[in-house]
Amino acid sequence: MKELLAADAYADNVILVRADSRPAPNRVAGTVYAVFSTETLGDKEGEFQGLVTDMDISFAPQRIFADLVNPHPLAPIKAKTPLNQVEIFFNGFTEALAVIDADSHFVGVVTRTSVLKALLKRERELLTRTQELNLQIAEDHQKLALWSVRLSELHQASRTLLNVLAHTQIENDILQSGIEALCQLLQARYGAVGIIDENKKLTHFLHTGMSETQINGIGQLPEGRGLLGAVIHENSAIRLDDLATDSRSVGFPANHPPMTSLLAVPISNLGRVYGRIYLCDKIDGTPFLPEDELLAMSFATSLSLILDNAREIQEIKRGQQHLYQLAHFDPLTGLPNRELAYDRIRQALANSHRQQNKLAIIFADLDNFKHVNDSLGHAVGDELLKAAATRLTQCIRESDTVARLGGDEFLILLPGIIDVQSIIVVAQKIKDALQPIFKINGQEIFISISIGISVYPDDSVDIGELLRDADTAMYHAKNSGRNNFQFFTPQMNAVVQRQMSLISVLGRSLERDQFQLKYQPQVDLQTGKMVGVEALLRWHSTELGHVSPAEFIPVAEISGLIITISDWVLMAACTQGKQWLEQGLQNLRVAVNLSAVQFQQSQLAEKVKQVLSETGFPAALLELEITENIMMSDKNAVLIVLNELKVLGVQISIDDFGTGYSSLSYLKRLPIDRVKIDQSFVRDVVTDTNDAAIVTAIIAMTHGLNLEVIAEGVETKAQLEFLINRQCYYAQGYYFSQPVAAEEITRLWHGGFNTP
Ligand code: C2E
Ligand code: MG
Ligand code: MG
Repeated sequence: MKELLAADAYADNVILVRADSRPAPNRVAGTVYAVFSTETLGDKEGEFQGLVTDMDISFAPQRIFADLVNPHPLAPIKAKTPLNQVEIFFNGFTEALAVIDADSHFVGVVTRTSVLKALLKRERELLTRTQELNLQIAEDHQKLALWSVRLSELHQASRTLLNVLAHTQIENDILQSGIEALCQLLQARYGAVGIIDENKKLTHFLHTGMSETQINGIGQLPEGRGLLGAVIHENSAIRLDDLATDSRSVGFPANHPPMTSLLAVPISNLGRVYGRIYLCDKIDGTPFLPEDELLAMSFATSLSLILDNAREIQEIKRGQQHLYQLAHFDPLTGLPNRELAYDRIRQALANSHRQQNKLAIIFADLDNFKHVNDSLGHAVGDELLKAAATRLTQCIRESDTVARLGGDEFLILLPGIIDVQSIIVVAQKIKDALQPIFKINGQEIFISISIGISVYPDDSVDIGELLRDADTAMYHAKNSGRNNFQFFTPQMNAVVQRQMSLISVLGRSLERDQFQLKYQPQVDLQTGKMVGVEALLRWHSTELGHVSPAEFIPVAEISGLIITISDWVLMAACTQGKQWLEQGLQNLRVAVNLSAVQFQQSQLAEKVKQVLSETGFPAALLELEITENIMMSDKNAVLIVLNELKVLGVQISIDDFGTGYSSLSYLKRLPIDRVKIDQSFVRDVVTDTNDAAIVTAIIAMTHGLNLEVIAEGVETKAQLEFLINRQCYYAQGYYFSQPVAAEEITRLWHGGFNTP
């Protein structure tokens, strides 16, 4: 604001008067009179004589003005004299000062009052100005606050980016969230980010704000020849209110939606340009501001750092992976090495401890590998190891581990074992897997393997001991003629031994006619009539004597012999059933047990159909018993097979019911006729309240589902009475009869049974 001058403070109550005139009697207080000589008045300006104030007049009101003029006035001032130099401030007697120009002509008067007024006016102006400034400041403050909010939003967006980075290595995700965040922040209608490689070729292009149809319409990406290319070449931002007006613009592709304003910034860090971001058209139609550019730049810098990091992290990860691979895997076979194997054993031990199951450690050593190496060379030896490793891997489940401990020594870890039988199965598989000839570099090589097995917790709970035990067992296998497997514990070896002999004699027992069927009656408790029989297999081996089906059926299942055996059973039972029918045993149902292995065969129904037609036994009198566990295996497959069987007209019953985990709702979906309550519940039904409750519930449930229910293993009258009281009207068990020969059934049929 400029300095106050005399000119700013002219008094307005000044009257020009002639020197020979007199003051009027009724004057206005405070008026100042500028006195001019008489002769020059008229069109010519008179000479200025001096000033007369009210106060001067009051001392001698009769005088003419010429006599009132102060003969010693203060020197007049100039229009441009600064007010703070005007003596009027300092001289208490002077009321008014004349202002004259360079030619001494009168131009105005400043009085004490007019000066004060000017000062006051200036003060007011200052005040208003201050107020205006304050307002401006408040406004700026608000703007700043807004910017700080936007900045924190920017930081938030950066954090989101970093978050994305932490959870994914995919650059696309980072870029997509980045451009979306920026568009949101700057309220842009459309945004895109493009990343280039060293050859400036576009490798990534992500955008936001366009509809699917619009994108499809474009067909081709912006090539970055024009403005967008310039951003990269020049590594500098471009901000335009109308992008078409820039000479560098080559415009968007033909079908690109029209866009007017542009803000494009390079994504660069330390001079290296990664790509560029561009935004078009603000949602509210206003142009992009310099502040928007700053934000976009800062954002692009963050993005470049993140990309930098992401690439670095990827490099590090690759390096780490490589190191991990080197430290934990055998370079030749690609199998886990000793270290990783021991690690997995430790983990598996902890799991087995928690889940209360078993775990097997298998040491497997190729027989005579040294001979192959020495005679055919190391290259062939290496190839053989690789091929053997592949075959070993094919013998195990996904959760098992095959590792190479070194040389020709392998370790196989089987965690989560419930049934030791499955260990034997795997050991056998491993042994068999190496049997077929290896063809390596045109050479045919036979090789076998010696296997030692230790089992947690049976042999030990300590990892060191388990490893030693497996090793000991392996040496035992080597000493027992190689090409075999040995458990550390003698009992397990005895089990294996028994199984081996079972398998070896079981194969020949069919042709040697060692199988026989016994039949156990099923009785209607209300009439005492025999309504059916269950066919139960008996095996008398010349070598092993009598063997229970409970023991040999599982072995037959493992060895695959179960199929031929079952075929024989079905045929024998149906033939017998037909004979009974011809003997007049009307409506006598014959039940045959099915094994899980049979169920996995696709031709089961076909086979049953064939046997029925060959024997002439009516389908309606044949009952097939399946266990709950079969039903639970592959539910859909089971349903399909059952339906195929039902189409034939045979009956289906569920054996050993209560021991599995089948649900009621599942049962409802199955086409079954009968449920057999497992004998383990029947045994203590009179003494054990739990079993009583279970049996009662099963009976009630079957009634609810409209199924027939029969109790197995009934031995006493008390059990029978309990069942009748609960409305279970069918039973099978020693109470009525042991499984007996077919002729005995005929006799029992005619005799009938006594029921309570
Ligand atoms: P399962 O089908 O539950 O047969 C019932 C078993 O309980 C039979 O044993 C039978 O002799 C026995 N048993 C019957 N009444 C009583 C009783 O009052 N008290 C006692 N303690 N036991 C009784 P078995 O004949 O030794 O058969 C055992 C299992 O072997 C059968 O159980 C069945 O699962 C299987 N099995 C038998 N024959 C065959 C067959 O031909 N094929 C198939 N796949 N499995 C069979
Ligand atoms: Mg049965
Ligand atoms: Mg049973």
